[in-house]
Amino acid sequence: MAACFGVLALLVLLTALGLFWLARRQRAQTGLPFRARIVYADTGAWHQVEGPLFSRRYGLVGKPDYIVEDKGATIPVEVKPNRAAAAPRASDVMQLAAYGLLIEEARATGAPTPYGLLKYRDAVFQVDLADDLRRALLDLLDAMRRDLAARDVPRSHAEARRCQRCGYRAECGQAME
Ligand code: SF4
Repeated sequence: MAACFGVLALLVLLTALGLFWLARRQRAQTGLPFRARIVYADTGAWHQVEGPLFSRRYGLVGKPDYIVEDKGATIPVEVKPNRAAAAPRASDVMQLAAYGLLIEEARATGAPTPYGLLKYRDAVFQVDLADDLRRALLDLLDAMRRDLAARDVPRSHAEARRCQRCGYRAECGQAME
């Protein structure tokens, strides 16, 4: 019996180490400066957001799926029910960071949003919305503004499936097959 528990504990440890390694590897691959960990989340405390949030300063608008209050901070929650992954996707992290910025702008104190929650099919990730991720988001917004004013912008990805579903496919000229 003790041997069984020993094997089970070893399996749990190996699984945890595997998930940790995968999360680190995916984080390194995205190139984004973010930290995320899997947490338990009480979904009963989540509230739906009534309308979109605006930031005139950053030219940004968006609406998180939910918000939750935690120690005086308002936390954005984004739900991707069909997604399963060992670590958050870079695009989801940026979306969460943008909601954090919108909440920061909406608060009278202007206090930074400490973290956001990303719910995938099997796990909830707590993503730190720290200074370096906030800076990466502001850099991305600057780059998007520059691209909007540019005559020609190169494709930013190599995902054929994205192009197949894209509404600009006919006009874009760079669609992947
Ligand atoms: S079709 Fe063009 S605009 Fe659409 S995802 Fe592909 S590269 Fe981007």
